[in-house]
Amino acid sequence: MDRKCFQDCKRLVVKVGTSSITYPTGKINLGKMELMVRELSDLHNSGRELILVSSGAVGAGIGKLGSTPTSMPQKQAIAAVGQGLLMQMYEKLFSEYSKCIAQVLLTRDCFSNPARYMNSRNTIFALLEYGVIPIVNENDTVAVEELKFGDNDRLSAMVACNAEADLLIVLSDIDGLYDSDPRQNKGARLISEVSTITEAMEANSRSRGSSMSSGGMFTKLVAARMTMANGIPMVIASSDERDAVRRIAGGEKLGTFFIPHRESYAPKRQWLAVGSEPRGSLTVDVGAEEALLRKGKSLLPSGVVRADGEFEVGDVVSIRGLSGRELARGIVNYTCDETRKIMGRHSSEIAGLLGSCDYEELVHRNNMALLESS
Ligand code: GLU
Repeated sequence: MDRKCFQDCKRLVVKVGTSSITYPTGKINLGKMELMVRELSDLHNSGRELILVSSGAVGAGIGKLGSTPTSMPQKQAIAAVGQGLLMQMYEKLFSEYSKCIAQVLLTRDCFSNPARYMNSRNTIFALLEYGVIPIVNENDTVAVEELKFGDNDRLSAMVACNAEADLLIVLSDIDGLYDSDPRQNKGARLISEVSTITEAMEANSRSRGSSMSSGGMFTKLVAARMTMANGIPMVIASSDERDAVRRIAGGEKLGTFFIPHRESYAPKRQWLAVGSEPRGSLTVDVGAEEALLRKGKSLLPSGVVRADGEFEVGDVVSIRGLSGRELARGIVNYTCDETRKIMGRHSSEIAGLLGSCDYEELVHRNNMALLESS
């Protein structure tokens, strides 16, 4: 895939981080926000559909209250103050260009529950049909740990998949992925295109973001893995770059482009890859990894070396390689206890081991979504 095709992308998701729209004090950076809104409004005028995923609630709340949260309830309270301010500012700026916006606040369970996954999607589609620009954030005020996305990078990738976007642009305080940390190494080089996210890249990127946002390069790579697996191109670029969104959407080589692995998945598979929360995980040997990723095969008990977690028939499980990296997710045909009895054994032995054999496969290909390139 070439960046030129971005010119034809109809539906764009743009993610802006806290540091892109607020000062380090948390006060809103009006100059940057105004420029961005103008640019997005212009793109919208040119016929593109836009979804903005905006952080900044906690930052703006800190700016207003003049206090930094030290506990979860304080952070949630501050987000409640800041989210209103953020939307007030977006409303004011977008209405100058006669644009209608909508606030969409999501928690993790909007995606993990398949019915709610479809529901969020339909709401976004309806908003886009009305010509509205949805502005999405995590519902920080109610999102306790188990309901959290954790960061807006992941959230933006989930929204891009859920809304069947043609392109995700993540604007940040860094202009892309480097071959080493540019803050520590002056000779670090920007990587312009990535077709596979390696474990080494992930290990290099595990540093924290700013004090007000949750992300960093690691969460951006998690987001990129998700979009790549779901057929959506993603670009990370600097929010300091003038007109970055318009230029990227025009095919210009800015930032780092993460090339998708395949065509986008149909909604059921997409939910598996994006929204589902696995109840357990199956570790597979090298032969099974090869069969899944490169030969389009189902997962048979013989290729499984370990089963973790408590799961029932029909639950979603992660399928992992020997290094622990998640390769795929799928719906499992046997319970965890049954799986532990039949793993490492040939399918012809299932009936003897369990008393009957309903399925030869542990996870059928049709009920599986790959997260790695094939
Ligand atoms: N949802 C948080 C906020 O609006 C930001 C999370 C993040 O930046 O990743 O402040």
